[in-house]
Amino acid sequence: MLDLVDVGERQLESYRGIAPDALLDGLRREAGPLRGARVLHVNATPYGGGVSELLRSVVPLLNDLGLIAHWRIVSGGESFFQVTKLIHNGLQGAPRALSQAEQSTYLENSRLNAAAFTEEYDFVFVHDPQPAALPEFRGKGEAKWIWRCHIDTSNPHPPVWEFLRPFLRAYDAAIFTLGDFVPPDFPISPVQLVPPAIDPLSPKNLTLEEGTAQRILEWIGVRTDRPLITQVSRFDPWKDPLGVVAAYRMAREAVSGLQLALVGSFALDDPEGWKVYRELAELSRRDPRVHVFTNLVGVGNVEVNAFQTLSDVVVQKSIREGFGLVVSESMWKGTPVVAGRTGGIPLQMADGVGGILVDSVEECAQAMVALLGDPERARRLGESGRQRVREHFLLPRLVLNELSLLRKLWGGKAVSRPAHLAAGRDPVCGMSLGEEPPLTAEVHGRRFGFCSELCHLTFLHRPERYLAAVGAVGAGAPGPA
Ligand code: UDP
Repeated sequence: MLDLVDVGERQLESYRGIAPDALLDGLRREAGPLRGARVLHVNATPYGGGVSELLRSVVPLLNDLGLIAHWRIVSGGESFFQVTKLIHNGLQGAPRALSQAEQSTYLENSRLNAAAFTEEYDFVFVHDPQPAALPEFRGKGEAKWIWRCHIDTSNPHPPVWEFLRPFLRAYDAAIFTLGDFVPPDFPISPVQLVPPAIDPLSPKNLTLEEGTAQRILEWIGVRTDRPLITQVSRFDPWKDPLGVVAAYRMAREAVSGLQLALVGSFALDDPEGWKVYRELAELSRRDPRVHVFTNLVGVGNVEVNAFQTLSDVVVQKSIREGFGLVVSESMWKGTPVVAGRTGGIPLQMADGVGGILVDSVEECAQAMVALLGDPERARRLGESGRQRVREHFLLPRLVLNELSLLRKLWGGKAVSRPAHLAAGRDPVCGMSLGEEPPLTAEVHGRRFGFCSELCHLTFLHRPERYLAAVGAVGAGAPGPA
């Protein structure tokens, strides 16, 4: 089995009063015919970066809507993730081809993951290039496969794109953040455009009292009585942290006492992070007002929230960016953003909303100084940013878009899986069981069979999640097909 990532619970109703009512009602309607559908999201890391951030919220919400949704990750050693980061970089245009040995590492590892993928689903979302070859090596089974690309693939390095492209032919649909990102000779149809979104109820985005946020920052050594600019990002050259330091150095000439925080996380699938981190740590040792924090020293979601809430300006000086969730996260807190005009960032900050778009280190420094010197303008921009996120970039909108695609792929039919689940399939992994499943459990008068102790225990841990989907409890579930 591919490793399962444990997620919490969410209720759609908790978003009422935060996201627009029409959106929440529309989402529930869209989900109705999909109740009982088995959905898998598969990516390469359970922490660090935007995809894991999204899945931690999307998957529980799908479960609340009556689907059976899981999040699994492919596994691989450092050499595999070195290759997948090369593919990631090549897809974003870095001019470096893969050697024969690197190609073999990717293929070998994809075969191992495909062999471990024994579960059955109705829909499989495969995120980014790391797991992209799964359907080629595993076969599609009965599922519809969707490739979800989160990065800017508008100008991929041709040898890298030619290597990956054949593995995409098997897919039934693809999702990109922007139409511009669809690479040349793209083999998947249909393509749906769906921008990501943030979860306003996650610890990172919950409203933090100002006093609490102050205590959090002071506790880790940041002064809250001095101006502060922050960039929150994986340690990745595409996020241009060195450019941020250069812009800060220019801005500090004009703003006395200015502090810079670079808050970065490592991700399982991003081995490049250490090199960038070491460079930044060295720079920070030479300037006591430059702080470099990581998830490894406990600067996690709540601390990021405090930084995004209290910084005078949040910077995101990316030179390539798929979407840049951190931009919407900061705008949601009413904090003005100075960000690189690239990828999905202008989509979030369109029409001069939320902050200032920049194209160079100099412009970045000027924009920081302008906002630090004009709190009223900064406040207005922050307010407009929050409104824009509320209208366009909250989680229920993302889930609604994805469910619309699933319904299209399903041909508008109601899912008939609940009957299948009760009869002869393990409700957790979806595997067919013979007449005599190795393990069984009886709940609410229904007998369920399981392929293994792990599935049995997973079911018993939260039976209501599966019972709602098979119509054993709760209203509105479809009857047997
Ligand atoms: N992030 C975090 N801690 C850090 C750095 C980043 O929690 O130290 C989170 C950040 O808040 C955001 C995600 O990682 O939710 C980064 O997503 P984004 O789309 O901005 O960039 P990606 O890493 O996917 O390229």
